[in-house]
Amino acid sequence: MHTDLFIGNAWRPASTGERFQVTNPATEETLAEVALGSESDVDQAVRVARTCLEGGAWRGLSARKRGALLYRAGDLLEQRAEDMARLETQQNGKPFFESKIDVAMTVETLRYYAGWADKVTGDTLPVDGPFFTYTLREPVGVVAAIVPWNFPLNLASWKFAPALAAGCTVILKPASETPLTALLMAEIMEQAGFPPGAFNVVPGSGSLTGRALVRHAGVDKVAFTGSTDVGKQIMRDAADSVKRISLELGGKSPNIIFADADIPSAVKGAQGAIFYGKGEVCAAGSRLLVEKSVHDQVMTELVARSKKLTPGDPFDAKTRLGALVSQKQQDSVMSYIAAGKKEATLVAGGNATKVNGKGYYVEATVFDDAKPGMKIVDEEIFGPVLSVLTFDGVEEGIRMANQTIYGLAAGIWTRDVKKAHTVARAIRAGTVWINTYNFYDSAAPFGGFKASGFGRDLGREALDGYTEVKTVWVAL
Ligand code: NAP
Ligand code: MG
Repeated sequence: MHTDLFIGNAWRPASTGERFQVTNPATEETLAEVALGSESDVDQAVRVARTCLEGGAWRGLSARKRGALLYRAGDLLEQRAEDMARLETQQNGKPFFESKIDVAMTVETLRYYAGWADKVTGDTLPVDGPFFTYTLREPVGVVAAIVPWNFPLNLASWKFAPALAAGCTVILKPASETPLTALLMAEIMEQAGFPPGAFNVVPGSGSLTGRALVRHAGVDKVAFTGSTDVGKQIMRDAADSVKRISLELGGKSPNIIFADADIPSAVKGAQGAIFYGKGEVCAAGSRLLVEKSVHDQVMTELVARSKKLTPGDPFDAKTRLGALVSQKQQDSVMSYIAAGKKEATLVAGGNATKVNGKGYYVEATVFDDAKPGMKIVDEEIFGPVLSVLTFDGVEEGIRMANQTIYGLAAGIWTRDVKKAHTVARAIRAGTVWINTYNFYDSAAPFGGFKASGFGRDLGREALDGYTEVKTVWVAL
């Protein structure tokens, strides 16, 4: 297992010698002690990434060859999928089958952007006058990718794959809880043949290592996924150097069940929308909006299903609810549950628990009678806690759905085509799922409206975020 910094295709300890512990949240055992990147390590990584960008090794490589490297990385990752998934589950606590999905999606993302590498083009422009005028799409430069712990490898690939395809070089700062899969990915990238400095990994704390990257004048863009508070801090820190930033922040996504929906599949969907990934999912359907006339039917089915969803060992094939990522996250979720008990009606779960006497688990928790203004309705909990609100009619449904500072995603369950599309347009969110939830694809852009951030991961839109447009005028 790699535990050092990966800079310029070399493994090295931190300049300070400092290390931090990585814990398995399901067993409470220490998994590794990882090098904590210092400011001087960050500076070194930026230099190496810049040299690679501006020197021959990377710049001299054709777009098609960059694509070939990304393809190769995808193939190598596919060969190591089990190892990678095991490590992801060990550090994050999510069920092993979920980690396997994460890794498979990462392979797809690498292949998707491999295909794009030689298709990043400018335009020729029909300007007035005797000119030939065209645009070039040039790499934005050195990219710092700062990512959270919930989908550690997958969310990292959403940033480094399009960045590398566009010709940028990358420094990846994984979350403190989950640096290990980023380090294994570094080994794979080197094996694939990426030249020294194209892809670097500098683990460390957000306040030190992350902040040093954001403030470094040699970093051209910060691509961030994480909390809204840190997103705001990054905006402030990036201002001095007018750095490009993209922010994928939190959410409190509404999942709306209309009375005319196929109720059993809506309830099944609502359960997956909140409990997949232990609810530690930015797009989690954490506010379930149920139309009044079907409230009782929905609740009966939902409560029965949720009570059956008991936390279990992430490596047990039957487990559908793993351990939360850390004790800190468990404490935070439990404080929301305590607040919820005072304001709303607890109808399922509500307890912290252990499996085999260990681990930071929380039961699948459902609150009924929730209302806007309550803490559990307004704030992102980032855990397996669902707040159920009741509405009457399409207009109230839309109003309640939009009654949030966030705008990451939304779900709509109805059999009425017109209603589905009307509501999809009225909701201020970056992704709307109709009669499904939590589906992602490398081809489908993902990101937020409002306080959920700006810029898009995935799809062609992500590539645009890693390029600068240059306009060239030639007098004829
Ligand atoms: P976070 O604190 O926003 O961390 C995300 C990443 O940013 C981590 O790599 C973190 O490093 C780094 N970071 C922290 N402070 C920084 C700073 N000032 N400058 C630069 N980088 C910085 O999120 P978290 O601690 O992982 O989770 C906290 C809450 O964020 C969750 O409870 C949840 O509400 C939300 N969250 C949202 C998403 C999402 O996908 N939208 C994902 C995860 C979490 P460290 O790991 O060292 O802190
Ligand atoms: Mg943090």
